[in-house]
Amino acid sequence: MPTLDEARRIILGHTRTLGTELVELIDSMNRVAAEDIFAPWNMPQCDNSAMDGFAVQTADCTPEARLLVTGLITAGAPVIPVAQGCAVKIMTGARIPPGADAVVPFENADQQGEYVVFKAPVKLYQHVRLAGSDLHRDELMISAGTVIRAPEISAMASASRTYVSVFRCPMVAILSTGNELVEAGEFVTPGKVVDSNGVSLAAMVKECGAPVQMLGIARDTVESHIEKMAIGLHSDILITSAGVSVGERDLVREVLTDLGVSFEFHSVDVAPGKPTTFGVKDHSLVFCLPGNPVASMIIFTELVRPAILKAMGYRRVVPVAVRAILQENTSKRSGRIKLLRVRLEFNGDRLLAFSAGEQSTGILKTSLQADGLALLPAVRSSFSAGEEVEVHLLSSNVLMQQEEI
Ligand code: AMP
Ligand code: MG
Repeated sequence: MPTLDEARRIILGHTRTLGTELVELIDSMNRVAAEDIFAPWNMPQCDNSAMDGFAVQTADCTPEARLLVTGLITAGAPVIPVAQGCAVKIMTGARIPPGADAVVPFENADQQGEYVVFKAPVKLYQHVRLAGSDLHRDELMISAGTVIRAPEISAMASASRTYVSVFRCPMVAILSTGNELVEAGEFVTPGKVVDSNGVSLAAMVKECGAPVQMLGIARDTVESHIEKMAIGLHSDILITSAGVSVGERDLVREVLTDLGVSFEFHSVDVAPGKPTTFGVKDHSLVFCLPGNPVASMIIFTELVRPAILKAMGYRRVVPVAVRAILQENTSKRSGRIKLLRVRLEFNGDRLLAFSAGEQSTGILKTSLQADGLALLPAVRSSFSAGEEVEVHLLSSNVLMQQEEI
């Protein structure tokens, strides 16, 4: 039985990128660039003013100088040359006119009628953004493999790009299994369980940016499983939930094996989430998650999300681990890593990890309070308040300023 890290390594060893596609810039957020992008020209293209002020010739700017103001250049407007002994009013972003080699900001100038005097010495090229000072023509702006964020989009847009080649997202099919399940929105009678896994797993896939194919619910018959799974195996990734616990009739694995899936492991040495199964068929990855909603969401974060991100071209795919100080004594069985659901709070610059509540996987309420998963190492069984633990963040939004607005 692989450890959590070994299981992730096995999964990632089978995960490949899926070719590329062109997307519009506004749709490229959080996607991974599949091409190197070079500056098509000098950026900025020409010298321009970094301030609202006066374009001048530095040689004229002696301490007692009075320069005649001969015009105004706004951003995008034609330039007016600066003659010797003269100044031209210039706005931020306007092209530096011929003759000028510096800009004096309004706050350092005193305009007296048609003339202007300066309150401070003027240095060559002050407040001038020189052509190519940001990027030179043909300089690499964005390399293939970069995760696209707002600055990358801004850089591409400023190079007048409207499309970018990115790695394709995997199509992820989601299948819930079990006779007890009914769809959300349906009337629920005692003994029935609403299929929450289908929706929560789909939402987490979407959060990665990948499209979802909802396969609904397979009933506990071979025919129902075959019908749904055969469709799901056309996707790049198939995620099933339930029907893989030890002891029950193991339809999920049985049917997937008959459909040609070869399994790499049938359980992972982790709690919660031990009955997690992973296999491959051709280029499709198949994850069979536990039915328990708490466990399936935790295993998605730890093992499925990294694979989706790797397929999307991400190179860093393991949840970020932060160090936090455990606030309660905790014990667990030795020999297996435990993922403790914790609530995080800042105390100055120290991060405190409080148990988010009862840790039994039947208690969903605890997940509602949890910001992260504390990784309690396999080899140990008791942990004391005050110890430092590693915590995987469940969402990058949780480390925002703690004060509520
Ligand atoms: P199983 O893995 O089939 O033994 O299911 C474990 C537990 O998870 C049972 O309590 C099931 O009712 C519950 N469960 C299974 N599938 C789902 C689902 N799609 N949504 C919510 N709970 C589920
Ligand atoms: Mg079941």
